[in-house]
Amino acid sequence: MPRVVVIGGGWAGCAAAMSAKQAGAEVILLERTDTLLGSGQVGGIMRNNGRFTAAEEMIAMGGGDLFRLTDQNARHTNIEFPGHKHADLYDVATMEAIVRRYLQEKGIEIWLMARVTEVTRNDSTIATVATENGDVIEGDVFVETTGNMGPQGNCRKYGNGCAMCITRCPSFGGRVSIAARAGVKEVMGRRPDGGFGAMSGSCKLNRESVDRNIIRELDRTGVAVIPVPK
Ligand SMILES: Cc1cc2nc3c(=O)[nH]c(=O)nc-3n(C[C@H](O)[C@H](O)[C@H](O)COP(=O)(O)OP(=O)(O)OC[C@H]3O[C@@H](n4cnc5c(N)ncnc54)[C@H](O)[C@@H]3O)c2cc1C
Repeated sequence: MPRVVVIGGGWAGCAAAMSAKQAGAEVILLERTDTLLGSGQVGGIMRNNGRFTAAEEMIAMGGGDLFRLTDQNARHTNIEFPGHKHADLYDVATMEAIVRRYLQEKGIEIWLMARVTEVTRNDSTIATVATENGDVIEGDVFVETTGNMGPQGNCRKYGNGCAMCITRCPSFGGRVSIAARAGVKEVMGRRPDGGFGAMSGSCKLNRESVDRNIIRELDRTGVAVIPVPK
């Protein structure tokens, strides 16, 4: 049975692990932090706009497992707000545990706090990866899904932002590109004007800190559009 090692436990890594498992491989999923889903722990908007078709296509092609989980865990469905039509919102507070349990039940071995920092190669093929804890993992296939969010230094240098509250680089160490370690040059996105900017406009507010009318509106419709004062 081939052994597939997936590095990075965000949505992409979870999906890659599922696909490899379905194809009959032994699968190990290595994640740097203490949770799966990476930046999928914020936002939670699914099936909006063209993503509806994309999700349905993926389900039709046999890749529906994770979509079924987000559908089942949706707090609101078919909602609209500026720029988003017929969106679903999965519950970001509970999604990680659901996905983790599902992958484990499928027999995927999950290593948390396993930040891969080293790669050894046989010519052009990756032979092993090693975590900063000193574990060396052999595999037949290595899949890198480490995302694109980096440590603070990169965040400031390249100007497109990084969700520090989710990636928690100061606690777990920054992202390490396995492709780069294996000698593949990564494409680096930069703003044309070289200026700073946020990757996303999302932020989280403590529920108790907002007006009761807003909470009621959110509970009822899933959306509250509040104009920002000038
Ligand atoms: C604030 C915000 C809101 C968003 N809202 C939405 C939304 O509502 N709907 C939507 O569809 N998309 C949304 N997105 C985008 C979406 O979250 C991302 O595109 C998607 O989650 C990326 O998944 P990924 O698996 O490619 O990468 P990531 O989520 O970045 O996962 C990469 C994982 O790899 C791990 N990792 C990195 N380096 C290593 C290493 N060396 N060893 C081991 N592990 C490593 C990281 O810890 C991380 O868990 C949002 C993004 C942000 C930042």
